[in-house]
Amino acid sequence: MKITDAMCEFEKANEDKAFFSFEFFPPKTEAGVANLYDRFDRMAQLNPLWIDVTWGAGGSTAQRTLELCTNALKYHGLEPLMHLTCTNMQKEMLDSALKECVEHGITNILALRGDPPKDQERWTAVEGGLEHASDLVAYIRKNYGDFFCIAVAAYPEGHLENPDKEKDLQMLKVKQDAGADFAITQLFYDNEEYFAFLEKAKAIGVTIPILPGIMPIQSYQGFKKMTTFCKTKVPQHIIDDLEPIKDDDQAVKDYGVKLAVEMCREILDHGVKGLHFYTLNLETSVMRIIEGMMLVDTHISNRVLPWRPSVHKKRS
Ligand code: FAD
Repeated sequence: MKITDAMCEFEKANEDKAFFSFEFFPPKTEAGVANLYDRFDRMAQLNPLWIDVTWGAGGSTAQRTLELCTNALKYHGLEPLMHLTCTNMQKEMLDSALKECVEHGITNILALRGDPPKDQERWTAVEGGLEHASDLVAYIRKNYGDFFCIAVAAYPEGHLENPDKEKDLQMLKVKQDAGADFAITQLFYDNEEYFAFLEKAKAIGVTIPILPGIMPIQSYQGFKKMTTFCKTKVPQHIIDDLEPIKDDDQAVKDYGVKLAVEMCREILDHGVKGLHFYTLNLETSVMRIIEGMMLVDTHISNRVLPWRPSVHKKRS
């Protein structure tokens, strides 16, 4: 099902409730993949509206990303949103990925430009001129019409490569005009940045939903690394709270849950209808946040999952 349709259905059925979704990345090993499938099952009990699987820069995880999305849909009762980048790849890889999605009933794509692969400083355009996410959105619309629901990335604090925040915001409008259906933001820890971004986007005619990307703090080092890499603004009160507990892993995790619950409550109070969680392939913190916010009716629902063979690591 297209995520935009699922959002509409959810809103009709749950006036006062918020939906949520979970992002995962493809593990490097077979054992990691098997663990992730078990995690899918446990997290599926919370009824996320969808899950998404990242696409390694330059298509480095193409097969695994497709495999995880296909199996999530077929065997785990989860609606997949497949990330797809359009740089540092052969165009054939792009076409073949989109064709496989059609074949396997994957109807949701997060269309991205992509970062340069690890060993390269700069990204390069796909043959035929796909160099921005908006080009990929337009390409998908041109070749697949309305088959896909298309999501795009948004940057409340601005994309790092574009010092002009207004022009960067304008690019979200360009993505919408090319056919994007909704957006998911880069992580942030200052809700005010997100709220201001929503206002500015609305003022320039962005009407698609812009869902907040929430990354719970799960380890001090991980948090430092990620916020440094993304140059994310970290409010002083978070720095002050973390400083005395930074060597106590459990205390940092507990703080991360508490902070995310506070942030999410404020976001929902602001009228936002859904939350997107960067899980980092870990479940405990995100499940505690969902349960802490009482976004699910029971502790863990008795969701019946579709039958599947015991081993389904390879796509059939
Ligand atoms: P774009 O929207 O193309 O923007 C990139 C830059 O170009 C910006 O500075 C923008 O202002 C500028 N720009 C955009 N359009 C134009 C235009 N038409 N003319 C001139 N300038 C323009 N990376 C991965 O490799 N794999 C993933 O799975 C992945 N998932 C992500 C999920 C989310 C929710 C987010 C927020 C990011 C994700 N990324 C992923 C990272 C992403 O690839 C990088 O942030 C990348 O640098 C930009 O991608 P984009 O799609 O936002 O690009």
